[in-house]
Formats: sequence, structure tokens, C-alpha cells
Amino acid sequence: MSTKEQITKEQVFEQAKQQKLWAGHLIAAENLSTETLDNYTPIDNSVIGQIASGNADDVDIAVKVARDSFENGEWQRLAPAERKAIMQRWCALMHEHSEELAALDCVDAGKPITECLNTDIPATIETFEWYAEAADKVFGKVAPTGSAALALIVQEPIGVVGAVLPWNFPAQMYAWKVAPALISGNSVIVKPAELTSLSAYRLTELAYEAGVPKEALQLVCGLGEKVGAALGQHMDVDMVSFTGSTEVGRLFLQYAAQSNLKEIVLECGGKSPQVVFDDAVLDDAAINDILSAAFWNMSENCSCGSRLIVHSSQKAALLEKLKEGLKDWKVGSPYNPSTAIGPMIEKAHFDKVSHYLQTTKDEGATLVAGGNIHSELGSGWYVEPTIFDNVSPDMTLFNEEVFGPILAVTSFETEEEAISLANLSSYGLAASFYTQNIKRAYRVASAIKAGTVSINGFSEGDITTPFGGYKQSGFGGRDNGLEALEQYTQTKTIWVVN
Ligand code: NAD
Repeated sequence: MSTKEQITKEQVFEQAKQQKLWAGHLIAAENLSTETLDNYTPIDNSVIGQIASGNADDVDIAVKVARDSFENGEWQRLAPAERKAIMQRWCALMHEHSEELAALDCVDAGKPITECLNTDIPATIETFEWYAEAADKVFGKVAPTGSAALALIVQEPIGVVGAVLPWNFPAQMYAWKVAPALISGNSVIVKPAELTSLSAYRLTELAYEAGVPKEALQLVCGLGEKVGAALGQHMDVDMVSFTGSTEVGRLFLQYAAQSNLKEIVLECGGKSPQVVFDDAVLDDAAINDILSAAFWNMSENCSCGSRLIVHSSQKAALLEKLKEGLKDWKVGSPYNPSTAIGPMIEKAHFDKVSHYLQTTKDEGATLVAGGNIHSELGSGWYVEPTIFDNVSPDMTLFNEEVFGPILAVTSFETEEEAISLANLSSYGLAASFYTQNIKRAYRVASAIKAGTVSINGFSEGDITTPFGGYKQSGFGGRDNGLEALEQYTQTKTIWVVN
């Protein structure tokens, strides 16, 4: 159905080499800023093209367009089934262009191409398909008021929604925000991370091709301090849904307090525990899940299971199996289909991760595996998956989110101690634990303070289940599932007097 030719991953990689990849503003107006930033790939630190570098004026123009569009109702007042049909056309285009989208995330974020092709882009499309299907299946309520009145409880779109995205899952995070926000009838302004704007740009172009009005979905590219802050501080933005660091999440609460009390939903950082009890079965599936929780996506993953809390009786055998399993976690160029671990996203982040390697050694933890930086891979920033044992709760590695491939191992003796260690964090995004005892499984799942708890395996859930954090991992709502629609709607009571 697409009018444009499909582009292979090799063509995207060639465009990157020729510095031709571009992501610009998609704002339905004129007189926008023209400043740009060079876009570097972390694969070898070379320039692959440019992105637009917007400012507060661009945001202001986009908000005016979005507001007019919302009040005109060109998207908001379409029948839900019509919004669904457009969204489904968009999904068909995403399927057609999935290889191109995967290659854009690969080259922009340094994510292994196999992951982008098999996980990120299919999950992105699934998210849009799922919310498209929900469009005409979710509706309001009638309250049991008695005969004096008819009371309708209806959900209405919030209005102008800002979606501020991180760099670690560029296409997927776009989907998590845009799909439920748009299907609910809002006018959406996306601000992709400045390090990874390419797939957001391409997805938005495809949206227009499918029939989403250009005024109802816009993209403003650029730096967080300029574009992100302008969205957060704008008096006519009704809501911001943010995924990123806890530090910047806090700023959005300040922006809201200092401006129009816009609604804020935050999905922030984590330091998630994986607990292995004395009765856990450590078969290949368990080992694979423990390693995936710890190292998937170079550990640049908010739900990364970065603290392994293991019963002392299991520790030696577990560490041996993890070391063995790590042989499959090949560090290398993301272009190579067999690569499992690509580079860190940028030099500053690589320096931060390297600093944690050194600090953990200095604080006296025991290096069990990895610990090396792969300088032979050129000028990208590659860190080997690393395991440190004897990490005590007072050590930096136990407490701070590294967002890089360093796993902290701490041992325990009793169930109470395990729960207390698991909860000893200012974060509470995810947790997983391993046991064969059903009573313990329920007890521990109830006691752990985290938004998603998985038993005998690692999972973030799927599109049907809400995802978000306890404590400083989140605020104000959930992504995914029907629960996400609550973020993007407000509740109105219509009281009809008999
Ligand atoms: P970040 O907070 O640096 O940036 C996120 C977004 O905020 C980017 O678009 C950025 O441009 C913008 N931003 C930066 N400074 C800003 C400012 N002063 N004002 C307004 N906007 C600003 O986060 P990141 O480094 O892109 O992503 C990594 C973080 O995201 C990690 O902490 C990770 O745990 C978290 N994360 C959480 C989830 C979740 O669902 N809980 C998912 C993915 C990532």
C-alpha cells in the first residue's frame, strides 16, 4: 500500500555512511527554526546525518496547532472506529517498512540489529495494533443513582499531550506513548531523545501517509533543556507523559507546578532485584532469564535486573553457570547479526559506566566475570558484561542505576533478609525471583515493592499488562494495558436530572 519504496537495512547503513540520515520537525506550520545538530552513531562515533534542534518558539507554534486541531475536533471527534481504521493503515505501513525502522534504531542507538528486527519493531507495531483494536471497545459507565437522575461517567481526551521520550528503546517508547494518547483522541506532540530521533521521525511520516492529521500528531526535535523544558513549562499543554531518568522526571513535576499544573506521568529509573532462593531450579531457562534481565539491551534498560540477590547455598553454582552462559553474549558491532551487546549510547555514558567499574573495584567487590572495555572494536564505546560478587548494601553499585552491563551479586540466608535486600532501594520498577515453593512465591510477590514482579523468569509483562514503577521509579500512571488509557483521558460526570 505504501507509495514509497521499501528500504533495506543495508541501504540505511549506507545512508549512515554517507551522513544522509535526517530527522526534522514535523510541525504543521511555517517559520520554524532551522538550527541543526550533528547526529553521531555510537557504533563507531561517526556522523550519520543531522537532526533539527528546536527551541521554545517551535514548541509554542506546535502547541497552537495542536490546540486548534483539538478544539476543531478533526481527530478528537472522529468516530473511534475511524481512528482505529487509520491506525490500522499506519500499522500496515509499519509492517512494510519494518526493516528500515529496525535499521534506524540500530544505527541511531547502537542496538544489535537482530534485537531491532526481532523485538523492538515487532513490539512497536504490536502496541499500535493493540490500542487500535481497543479504540471502539472501551467505553464509560452509568452510575447506580436511582430514579432521580441519570449519571453518566465518561472518559474524555485530555487535550494537548506532550510525549517526552528516552533513547534506549526509541521506536518502542514512541509506541508506548503515542498509541494510547492518539487513540484516545488527543493532539500529541512528540519530543524524541536528541540521541535517537530517526525512527520517531519516520514513524510520524508513516502516520501522515496512513491518514493521521498532521495537526494531531507533531514532532519537535532537539535538546531536552530547550524542547523538553518548553513542553513541560507551556501554559497550554495539558499533560506530559515522560520516560527517562528520575532526575529529569523531577524537573517535569517542577515545570508543572510552576506553570499550569498540567498532568504529569513519569516512567523513570530502576535498580531491580533478581532473587534466587535456596529451592530455585537453576536450569538453562532460568540462567538465560537471569542473564537477559541483567544484560539485555546492554543493560540500558529501566527494568534491568541489576542486583542479583542469591541464597548462599546456591551462589557458587549459580556464578559458574552465569559465567558459562555469558559465552553466548557476544560483544561486537550492532551490524553483525550474532552480536548481543553493542556499544554504550554515547561517550559521556560510557565514561559513567567505566567510572562504576572502577568505583566497584575500589570499594572492594570481587570481579567474577568481564570487567573489560573493548577498545579493539574501534571508536565505539563497548563494555563487556561484568559480574561483581560480594556487593554489600553500602556499596555504590548496590544503590545507583548504572544503565550499563554491570551486575551486582549479594548473598542472603533467610527469606526475610532477601525481601529486605530486594526492597532496599529508592526505586521500585521491576523484580524477579526464583523458587519452587508456591506459598513463598505468593508471599514474596506481595512483599516486594515493585510495579512488575515476575516469578521463575524475567519479564516486563506484555502489551496487555500495565507497566510502571513504585517509589522513585514512577509517578502518576502506567504505560501499557488498558490502564495506560487512564493517563490520556479525564473523567467527567454528566448528571441528567429526571
Ligand atoms: P533523560 O532523562 O536524560 O532524557 C529523557 C528525555 O528527557 C529526553 O527526551 C531528553 O531530551 C529530555 N530531557 C533531558 N533533560 C531535560 C530537561 N532539563 N528538561 C526537559 N526534558 C529534558 O533519560 P535518558 O538518558 O534518555 O533515558 C535513560 C533513563 O530512562 C534511565 O534512567 C531509565 O531507567 C529511564 N527509562 C525508564 C523507563 C520506564 O518505563 N520506567 C523506560 C526506559 C527508560
